[in-house]
Amino acid sequence: MAEKEVLMQIKDLSVTYETRLGPVSAVEGVSFDILKGEILGLVGESGCGKSTMGKALMRMIQPPGRISSGKLIFDGEDIMTYDENQMRDFRGRKISMIFQDPMTSLNPVQRVDEHLVEAIQVHEPKTKPSDALGRSNTLMERLGIQKQRMKNYPHQLSGGMRQRVMIGLGLVLNANLIVADEATTSLDVIVEAKLVDQLKEIRDEFGVTLLVITHNIALVAEISDRVAVMYAGHLVELGTVEKIFDNPLHPYTYGLLSSVPNIKLDEREELYKMGGEPPNLTHPPKGCRFHPRCPKAMPICETIEPQFQEVARGRFVKCWLYENHPDKTTKKIEVAA
Ligand code: SF4
Repeated sequence: MAEKEVLMQIKDLSVTYETRLGPVSAVEGVSFDILKGEILGLVGESGCGKSTMGKALMRMIQPPGRISSGKLIFDGEDIMTYDENQMRDFRGRKISMIFQDPMTSLNPVQRVDEHLVEAIQVHEPKTKPSDALGRSNTLMERLGIQKQRMKNYPHQLSGGMRQRVMIGLGLVLNANLIVADEATTSLDVIVEAKLVDQLKEIRDEFGVTLLVITHNIALVAEISDRVAVMYAGHLVELGTVEKIFDNPLHPYTYGLLSSVPNIKLDEREELYKMGGEPPNLTHPPKGCRFHPRCPKAMPICETIEPQFQEVARGRFVKCWLYENHPDKTTKKIEVAA
């Protein structure tokens, strides 16, 4: 299979919040690539930093938070060097974001067509309103929003339709990357399944790249090409959906997947319970942040942080089980590519 090109490189990204209890590293030293045309699922428990990561990619972290270090290279350009004007143009034109509750992003007193026409005219001032309207109607029809619905206000639409309007706002400007942050969480299962199918169709039809941020493992399994797993502000595992689900390497990923209800489970079998709680990030544990909960923890895990490294082609993990160190007695575990 041909290698996909890289659309965005996230290099050593950290996001810090200043709080009364001291600085909190919501995201720390995270590096990964987003590939052109892929659907990348970003998963983890609440508070693991995945939504912060989504906002950081668009440089939308609000004070008291800030991107404290790292690079964001989009199509070869470091957007960390952009000023606010450049960023405003970049958001929407290159990356667009859809949230769990689209009502927070849509203007309640603007009709659907007005949202789209305004978005086009802000980024493309030379486009005539009639052309912008024609383009909006054609696109939204492809997304299943009929012309008469274009005159509706957001509150007159269903949750699924509002999400499609948000998707449309990204696509109408030909955004290359859509970040969907828990976008299907508030929808009922039937509407959610429809939206998931639609996201896949959109990727195929428009060639857009999708970063799907969710706590829903089943959704990730269904929609993603690759999966990235976050724990306590760190990226701990990354690989293709098949490899991650068939053979999770990181003990946290294993726990996360094993604790999902499965209809194949014998009724006498118990679901896996991951012990402990995610750490308080004002005082994260030393070494591996997962060590207080990890059934495989070794002495080295309590003192030295493992690296996030490639252990097989396209397979990354941050765990001492797969890394050598003089203080570690366990032999390196080889992983089949
Ligand atoms: Fe567990 Fe150690 Fe691996 Fe952390 S580094 S996940 S504590 S084995």
